[in-house]
Amino acid sequence: MLKCPYCQVEISTRTEVCPLCHAKLSDAGNTREDMKKTELAYPKRGKLPFLSGNLFDKIYLLFWFAFTAVFVLTESLLTGHARICWVVSSLMLYLYLLLRITLRGGSYFPQKITAHAVLLSVVVYTFSGVLPEPIVIFEFILPAVYLVSLLAICVFIAINYKHPDRYLLNIISIGLLSALPFLIVMLTDSHANPIMSAVTLSIGVSAIAVTVIFKARHIVNELKRKFHV
Ligand SMILES: [Zn+2]
Repeated sequence: MLKCPYCQVEISTRTEVCPLCHAKLSDAGNTREDMKKTELAYPKRGKLPFLSGNLFDKIYLLFWFAFTAVFVLTESLLTGHARICWVVSSLMLYLYLLLRITLRGGSYFPQKITAHAVLLSVVVYTFSGVLPEPIVIFEFILPAVYLVSLLAICVFIAINYKHPDRYLLNIISIGLLSALPFLIVMLTDSHANPIMSAVTLSIGVSAIAVTVIFKARHIVNELKRKFHV
């Protein structure tokens, strides 16, 4: 039994602060021995090993491995060098890490993704001065980032289908961001390749359209909640 040296209350379960006066118990009065002898209030939480593969891990990683192998082989055979396959493969791995960390990490995943996409845009834009052809950022890099972010949020909503409303604004913000690379490519460089950014634009716009058509009322409610109207 532990005893609080300040208010003299007896505490029957192991704790580090007195439940009555909130004084730290290990400071005075009680030794480590006393602490050890007293029963824990709650059973200790077992550690979760990082790679304790569940079904999702096994399926995704197997698919990723097979996909990468086939892609590398095909690209090397067809073009003589393997380049695009590594980009796609690392994007898939990146998506996996994002999902993996947050499947155990709880909610607010779409918010994290949205913030991540915005941050990545800033980082990439900052580095654009270093590249010999900065337009490549708007041709390929940012469209890919937004596409992956949008996909990740949709997968998350599909898994958490009980409360999709909270994440609608994230879809809309990423959808709006998706239009940016295409506009920049169109406005700045007439020789640029617009295919990737156009694909991202159309997927972003359709995501916004689907969200607005099916969830217009919820979006208004979310906006009111966010801005306390
Ligand atoms: Zn006390």
